[in-house]
Amino acid sequence: MKYIEPHAHMVSRTTDDYEKLALAGCAALCEPAFWAGFDRSSPAGFYDYYRQLTEYEPKRAARYGIPHFCWLCINPKEAEDAGFAREVMAIIPEFLDKPTVLGIGEIGLNKNTRSELAIFEEHVQMALDRDLPILIHTPHLEDKLKGTRLILDSLANFSKLDRGKVIIDHVEEHTVNLVQEQGYWAGMTLYPESKCTPNRAIDMLETCDASRLWLNSACDWGVSDPLAVVKCGFEMKRRKHTAAEIDTILYENPKRFLSQSKNFVLP
Ligand SMILES: [Zn+2]
Repeated sequence: MKYIEPHAHMVSRTTDDYEKLALAGCAALCEPAFWAGFDRSSPAGFYDYYRQLTEYEPKRAARYGIPHFCWLCINPKEAEDAGFAREVMAIIPEFLDKPTVLGIGEIGLNKNTRSELAIFEEHVQMALDRDLPILIHTPHLEDKLKGTRLILDSLANFSKLDRGKVIIDHVEEHTVNLVQEQGYWAGMTLYPESKCTPNRAIDMLETCDASRLWLNSACDWGVSDPLAVVKCGFEMKRRKHTAAEIDTILYENPKRFLSQSKNFVLP
């Protein structure tokens, strides 16, 4: 099953995972910059992380025949100290010209604080200044609805923003319509715990605007499944979705969104 994994944190995964992804039909992989499971102690820690995302990880993926792309930012969890976050943001521009960088992400909110919101808006401006797509993380569980609303309100202040170039990730039943009604793309994350299961995701895509959404595993260093997207594809098949419908959701949709970045070129 040919598909794209549009959101995976491969720096936390093993080469066995790359092999499994390749065998499952993964045609491209995109890695947003995120939290490492611990707070980095200095901006230099981020410098090395951006090098890992732009130099080392594409080479590791290439050994399994998978093109690897990335998104850059300082994640909301480490953006609470705005001074620290701005020091980190100052080193991002030198990486934005690297050939596999797609845009700014995953930015967003974690605890919905003022500081997080200020840094979020500075990232949006950075993307706007360079005409880059944006990938947005929404908070978990009880903070999700409030965080999603705060993000949408904030984005509404950017009059020049092309909403078709913004994807809001980790949507659930109570946020997917909110996001799509305002012209944004929606991402659904398939997590063994805390986020949606394949059946919940399929229920949602059967009722929302399926032309503007993607599925991802968001696999990282925690409990997660790098094969979640392709497993959802099999579940769609079981639920009598046609091969063309599955291809649209798993391959054509992410390809269409990601192709808005000039660096997203598939071999
Ligand atoms: Zn993520």
